[in-house]
Amino acid sequence: MPEIFINGQSVQASEDQTVLQVALENGFFVPYFCWHPQLSVAGNCRMCLVEVEGRGLDIACNMPVNTGMKVFTDSEDVKAHRKAILQFITLNHPVDCGICDKAGECTLQDYHYAYNGDASLSRDAKVTSTKFYNLSNRILLDNERCILCLRCTRFTHEVSKSMALGVERRGDVSNIRPVEDRPLAEDPYSDNIIDLCPVGALLSRQFLHKSRVWYLQPTPSVCPGCERGCTIQVWHRKPEWYLQSLDQRQNTSIARVTPLENPAVNGPWICNKGRDLARIFERTRAEQPMLKGRPVPVAEALDAARRLIGASRHPVALVSNWGSNEELEAFKRHLGEVFHSRVKRDWLPEEGERVEDDLLIRPDKNPNSAKARELFDEGGPAWHDGTDLVLVWGEGCDFARIPPKARLIFLNSYLAPENGHADVFLPISIQTERAGHYTNFQGVVSRFEACFPKAGSVLDAEAVFKSLATPARGHP
Ligand code: SF4
Ligand code: SF4
Repeated sequence: MPEIFINGQSVQASEDQTVLQVALENGFFVPYFCWHPQLSVAGNCRMCLVEVEGRGLDIACNMPVNTGMKVFTDSEDVKAHRKAILQFITLNHPVDCGICDKAGECTLQDYHYAYNGDASLSRDAKVTSTKFYNLSNRILLDNERCILCLRCTRFTHEVSKSMALGVERRGDVSNIRPVEDRPLAEDPYSDNIIDLCPVGALLSRQFLHKSRVWYLQPTPSVCPGCERGCTIQVWHRKPEWYLQSLDQRQNTSIARVTPLENPAVNGPWICNKGRDLARIFERTRAEQPMLKGRPVPVAEALDAARRLIGASRHPVALVSNWGSNEELEAFKRHLGEVFHSRVKRDWLPEEGERVEDDLLIRPDKNPNSAKARELFDEGGPAWHDGTDLVLVWGEGCDFARIPPKARLIFLNSYLAPENGHADVFLPISIQTERAGHYTNFQGVVSRFEACFPKAGSVLDAEAVFKSLATPARGHP
């Protein structure tokens, strides 16, 4: 193991490491734009230069470690050159931070204040370029803000393999451009380049000018889009910045979704479906308990459900694979002996959706099939001619196949025609309204937290199962 010295301190390195990796690993921060731990070394931004005794200045991202080397990350020479590099990088960069979505989390902005701070030395007019180039139906490109770090092009070549981006022309008129016949719109991982971009050059159309990032906070969660169970951050408005007079639904809506880095599951990436969770979670909700479509108080609906269960001789349950570990265990504990249960697939692949690949996307489009299968049977017929009660938990049930004479208890979160036909309908909370865990297809358990309050008439499935296990007060 080579020993090297960083700012006079001895540190141990592995032979295959670069000076940048060793420095970061040992708490010596070295600024960088183009380097990324999951991408190849480009070495084009020159921001990570350090001084090596007897060798002078060089970039740390492409510098192998050598036993005994003495590295300085903050010498006067390094500071002067860093400052010069920032002057160069901002030479043609517009000062439009005030309207840039990246403001507040822009590396260039942070480095400018940390390592430069001076106004531009140049008196020449800045080179202008395209401001809103249409990269895809999801992403806009501002070429003036681009610092040509090439993280985006490397991502499409090395990670998503869509090869959708390249660089056109040379010098100060170089531009990131789509590669002919390689539409970025067909890359299901395209939005990772928005996070990768160290500046505000790549912009999410969905998030464009919707909020300043300092109004938002992230809640750790898990994407329910497939059995990979990528960990994510669900961004929403901070309570101290709640809107009072503008559209107050924005206070409890998903502003954006970004990856929550997790080496055991998804690394630093997620697919675009994970970014679009608002499309799933912000459908019109069902919030009213009902008996055959007639609104009733929660207690009355629960009591009616208990009476149906008490009177049934052959009850069947279709268990949701969107239920959390805790909810599935609660069902097993409280109702497992009562119902003949089968795991239901709540979601199937949608038309046009990539079904499976060798990066993240899995064919089972449900987050907790592994835990559901561990606790309940999946195959075989769910019901027979004598089935007199069916409890359906969640979406994905083919109601036409339920035995016509069977009574129906339906637990669902969203408005659906079947809600009003059920003998008992119970509205239940969604993932953003409760905490829990999912188990992914590899057996990795990940936690999600609540970020929004639920309506008073909406129940947690876990509480419903416990409540349904207590004896009914009357007879059907
Ligand atoms: S668009 Fe962003 S990620 Fe791509 S090269 Fe420019 S600065 Fe880098
Ligand atoms: S790969 Fe699956 S779990 Fe991960 S973000 Fe995409 S849909 Fe969600």
